[in-house]
Amino acid sequence: MNNVKELDNLYVANTYARFPVNIVKGKCSYCYDDKGVKYIDMGAGIAVNTFGYSDAAWKKAVINQLNAFQHTSNLYYSEPCALLAKTLCEKTDMKKVFFSNSGAEANECAIKVARKYAAEKLGKDCYNIITLKNGFHGRTIATLAATGQDVFHKNFAPFPDGFLYADANDINGVKNLMENNKVAAIMIECVQGEGGVNPLTCEFVKELSELCGKTGALLIIDEVQTGNGRTGKLYAYMHYGIKPDIITTAKGLGGGLPIGACIMGEKAEKMLSYGDHGSTFGGNPVSCAGALNILNRIDDKLLAEVNRKSEYIFNRLKNAKGVISVSGKGLMIGVKPEKDAKAVVNACMEKGVLFLTAKDKVRLLPALNIPFSALKIALDVLCAVCAE
Ligand SMILES: *Cc1c(COP(=O)(O)O)cnc(C)c1O
Repeated sequence: MNNVKELDNLYVANTYARFPVNIVKGKCSYCYDDKGVKYIDMGAGIAVNTFGYSDAAWKKAVINQLNAFQHTSNLYYSEPCALLAKTLCEKTDMKKVFFSNSGAEANECAIKVARKYAAEKLGKDCYNIITLKNGFHGRTIATLAATGQDVFHKNFAPFPDGFLYADANDINGVKNLMENNKVAAIMIECVQGEGGVNPLTCEFVKELSELCGKTGALLIIDEVQTGNGRTGKLYAYMHYGIKPDIITTAKGLGGGLPIGACIMGEKAEKMLSYGDHGSTFGGNPVSCAGALNILNRIDDKLLAEVNRKSEYIFNRLKNAKGVISVSGKGLMIGVKPEKDAKAVVNACMEKGVLFLTAKDKVRLLPALNIPFSALKIALDVLCAVCAE
């Protein structure tokens, strides 16, 4: 098929501004378009392809499960789902997992759990959830309401009530909201991804955690993008010395297959009971088998490697010509160029390297196992384009 672009433009909803690249195959951190052009992929499908394209061990786990059975309903047990839940709980010291198919759904689940918790434990009308301005929690109506960015809200009102927005790193703003409203939960990304790759300060996150401890509100950490080794720890909250009540994750967990997880701690674990929530595809055995393979491979050795690569990237970009600033953690990095970020990304694409943007930044989210040789070339290209 050589007119994929025309077909897509005709028949696929126009929600994405696609680059003129038709990917036909990939291996490791490299992908190829329909003209045979090879690219270094510094976006990994937006932090999804944790071990790059066509990773042999992950494929084996997925194919083994496909050969056994591809799906059954949640009316029956299946081993990949149970094992993945156990692994997630053991690695986070949490209690129970609800599986969905995306990040937005994982957050929907967290919102429902927090609302029910507050209704049962904190009293009547205690349904507000505080999120941060410039955050991102998904595209469903409720998670859009949770997303404190006006640009995403235009034309989609009315939204469900009960979301309050505070400025990132402004503890007094949060305290003020908590004093004047009944608050069920605070939901944050430790590193705001779509908002421009901005890590929250350690002090702020610790204070939020203490505030939740004092008031009984649940602390929900959205690890959809930051999770699964991305920031150099298994989950980004682990940099902050806090214990969340709920962790949500998705993107990199499946290594390329759709899966979301809402991971609940002691306070929240008993909130979902029979009939409270559900998802036909949630806990799909193929997605879970893939995720189990991914999660078991994010060990100290891999995380050390992630941190080594992160340091290399920061060092190369820190004082690079045409670069204003570098932010982020691990292999989740935002680069603010003097030039327009989109123009930089387009120019890099012409030179065979695929980057992402986030607001006015060039965003780097490469596969965690990207070879140093590929990383070096990608940064040579980025530095050259920024300096031009
Ligand atoms: C991508 C993202 C989401 C939404 O995930 P989907 O799988 O696209 O629904 C939610 N929260 C954060 C922090 C994200 O980066």
